[in-house]
Amino acid sequence: MCGIVGAVSTRDVTPILLEGLKRLEYRGYDSAGIARFNQNEKIDRIRRVGKVKELEEAVESSEQIGTIGIAHTRWATHGIPSESNAHPHMSAESIAVVHNGIIENHEELRASLQAEGYEFSSQTDTEVIAHLIHKLIVSGKSLLDAVKATTEKLRGAYALGVISSDNPDQIIAAREGSPLVLGVGLGENYIASDQLALLPVTTRFIFLEEGDIAEITKKTIKIQNRKGESVEHPVKQFTGGDSTADKGEYRHYML
Ligand code: GLU
Repeated sequence: MCGIVGAVSTRDVTPILLEGLKRLEYRGYDSAGIARFNQNEKIDRIRRVGKVKELEEAVESSEQIGTIGIAHTRWATHGIPSESNAHPHMSAESIAVVHNGIIENHEELRASLQAEGYEFSSQTDTEVIAHLIHKLIVSGKSLLDAVKATTEKLRGAYALGVISSDNPDQIIAAREGSPLVLGVGLGENYIASDQLALLPVTTRFIFLEEGDIAEITKKTIKIQNRKGESVEHPVKQFTGGDSTADKGEYRHYML
């Protein structure tokens, strides 16, 4: 189980992303990474094998900021733990994707993308998602529709967070078989694998259902179900006892 965190705001989201990753460390991981749409209007990506602390040091010395970003801790399923296999994965320097889960049909998708000229820089099952989204955007789809059409080609399990330098005000989130929660803030919104990651910034959460896809801006959250119908899910208040990740009075999780 890896971890996903994302945020869109008017302020620099870097501290929210790094703190969120630290709060997801309990899930286990081998590498970590972050992508932000930065002050130079480009997607800036930093990845490290090892601890979130090492990523944090690299991010701090990069002196980049961003009002939108996604971050990830990886538990390798396809491809060794390495910097090039760490998430976020990118296509054409304009799409960045974090993924939790396994894409079962990644080999056939990779082969057909390679036949169309896409070059792969990792051994992961995830990279096909970034290139598929890019291909569909080039064909004229919006970011939301490109992610939706991409998920329709995937077999397996995924929680996804996607940003694009052409849509620097929105995060697209989708889930099927892996958990993903939306955090509702004041003038900023978030995504995460577990509400625990976002407790420093919000206690209000929307739980995506299987097959849902969401378009998140700093002020709005729009959700579609698998059939493409607009749906509204209740905003739930975190009460302290409803996180499976919360140790409660116990010293460690095994207890
Ligand atoms: N299957 C993906 C990979 O190996 C995601 C793994 C995860 O959920 O961390 O990169």
